[in-house]
Amino acid sequence: MPKSLESNSNQSAVKLQDGLMRLTAPNPSPMTYKGTNTYILGQKELIIIDPGPNSKTHLSNLLEFIPPNAKVTHILVTHSHLDHSELAPTLSKIVNAPTFAFGRALDGQSNNMKNICKMGLVSESFGIDMEFVPHYFLQDKEKIISSEWEIVVHHTPGHLCNHVCYQYFDILFTGDHVMEWSTSVISPPEGDVSQFINSCKEINKLQCQKFYPGHGLPVENPSGRIAELIKHRKKREIEIHNFLINNEATISQITKNVYLDIDQKLLSVASRNVKAHLIDLIIKKQVKVDDLSSDNAIFSLI
Ligand SMILES: [Zn+2]
Repeated sequence: MPKSLESNSNQSAVKLQDGLMRLTAPNPSPMTYKGTNTYILGQKELIIIDPGPNSKTHLSNLLEFIPPNAKVTHILVTHSHLDHSELAPTLSKIVNAPTFAFGRALDGQSNNMKNICKMGLVSESFGIDMEFVPHYFLQDKEKIISSEWEIVVHHTPGHLCNHVCYQYFDILFTGDHVMEWSTSVISPPEGDVSQFINSCKEINKLQCQKFYPGHGLPVENPSGRIAELIKHRKKREIEIHNFLINNEATISQITKNVYLDIDQKLLSVASRNVKAHLIDLIIKKQVKVDDLSSDNAIFSLI
């Protein structure tokens, strides 16, 4: 029997408005906050946005919230990180609905980043779902239409090159691109700082009133949050650039000098962030490096 929200004892389920529900997967962690948010949109023809991780509990929760008189017609995935996409193929088979995404994990990668890979940059990213191949490959600005709703697709590379946001009226489902509780991890060559900032500017033009992210609570002030995120990235870039004015340094030396008060446990995340900015500065032809494949590569200003 489907659960009704009134009798719902499952704290992971929240009714956001008529015809829109959020179910949070049981995968809390420092990287996923309280877990991945899965959204169910529609009354009779349902869209499921980001099925989530491969969790039996989450799958059974999801299935129990599908009313008997409704049918899942579309499964949309924001990006190919395992905590968002991994359940998609299983769910697709069970509910007999196709999956939609921008493409495979590395689709949407910029030519600049492809060139950086040729310079020796090796992926250190974990959690990428290289096996996920959607039934339908979406294009930027494409519309997905049913008799009940219309969704506009916005390609938003940055956090991951195949990341998209989904617009429904003045609501935007932002995946891991914009969240309230944390900034997005950007890890080249799959992530790209310049693309991230550009994607932020593009979705700001949509003037949406609310963002529903892949983790955490809704973003109630989208343009304010976007401004904060861009400012944060610019500040780090300036700090790294300024440090390099008087120094040639490795990533770990730069991280220790830029993130002065950071908890030691977060140092590796911070160094990935610094690396992302350094790669971006190489692309902008402001920084050079002796050997990008080495952990002890020396970065300096051009
Ligand atoms: Zn992600």
